[in-house]
Amino acid sequence: MRVAFFSAHPFDRQYFDEANRVHRHDLHYLDARLTAATATLANGHPAVCVFVNDRLDAPALTILAAGGTRIVALRSAGFNHVDLTCARALGITVSRVPAYSPHAVAEHTIALMLSLNRKTHRAYARVREGNFSLDGLLGIDLFGRTIGIVGTGRIGTVVAHIARGFGCRVVAYDIAPSAECGALGVEYVSLDQLWAQSDVVTLHTPLTQDTRHLVNARAISAMKPGVMIINTGRGALVDTRALIDGLKSGHLGAVGLDVYEEEENLFFEDHSSHIMQDDVFARLLTFPNVLVTAHQAFFTQEALRAISETTLDNISAFEQHRRNGHELTPPEPDPHPRVT
Ligand code: NAD
Repeated sequence: MRVAFFSAHPFDRQYFDEANRVHRHDLHYLDARLTAATATLANGHPAVCVFVNDRLDAPALTILAAGGTRIVALRSAGFNHVDLTCARALGITVSRVPAYSPHAVAEHTIALMLSLNRKTHRAYARVREGNFSLDGLLGIDLFGRTIGIVGTGRIGTVVAHIARGFGCRVVAYDIAPSAECGALGVEYVSLDQLWAQSDVVTLHTPLTQDTRHLVNARAISAMKPGVMIINTGRGALVDTRALIDGLKSGHLGAVGLDVYEEEENLFFEDHSSHIMQDDVFARLLTFPNVLVTAHQAFFTQEALRAISETTLDNISAFEQHRRNGHELTPPEPDPHPRVT
């Protein structure tokens, strides 16, 4: 099948070319991010392959449909960037990679947590400057502390396993509590209890109308002074301006972000020679107790291998009129309504 592959990076080409030895699709790699302005690049391609910062809103999907696209294969688990209602109305199948490596994202979550606690991001720069002072590097033992996990699906469950391994108490909130977490000794509590009890809050829910700005000014004020917040889920789970207020007041002890509300124009590209136009993001970067990574939590060899194999199988399944259970449209209703 002819596939227009948007937002292609060298690592995508490497892993997809490898996996495509089995599937033999005709992959056309494009540097461009998919938006309504670039969607005509897919003309004549029945399949389109996209990542998290491609924008599949109604105008883009309408152009894709007019150009002959019948399947949009997401290289991601999250699908908040796709207007599924519109895709369904246009008769476009949308498939995703529901699970690739929850370990990749969970381990990166823990990496942010450990770095921020022991300030290794600061120690690294300091030692290289010949400054061996310990002032400002004081951390806490995570052993015995309380980690609050919001969303105990695939990724949240792995985080719970690791946190329990550290000897942490783990409290969690999920609309569908998991028996596996229960067996691990995870205590399910209300969101308000989670905010009040946690030394570290970590977010692992999808972005939906219910979870947008889950961490807002009210939630932050309900948290313990000195709390650490980690977000490797989706940027808009957190109200970034409220986060900045919490950092400025000193109420928040540390913040680790792998995702950002307005990341689509920033992440995955080299902007090091450009003037930063996003004042909110620029302010975030001024805090010594904030660590930002550019949506790299998924980025392991195992995850890239699984993403490429599953994505290409999703396209093959569509071509062969076989359903493999990874389709978001049609005919199932949206599991998570689109955020507007
Ligand atoms: P999952 O579907 O296995 O788990 C999500 C959990 O969230 C489920 O247990 C679900 O019941 C719960 N949930 C849904 N709505 C909720 C709500 N309103 N309140 C509380 N809990 C709710 O998903 P996953 O594989 O664990 O991934 C979680 C999210 O992580 C994805 O949706 C995606 O946005 C994000 N993600 C980020 C990266 C990255 O590189 N940073 C990579 C993969 C996934």
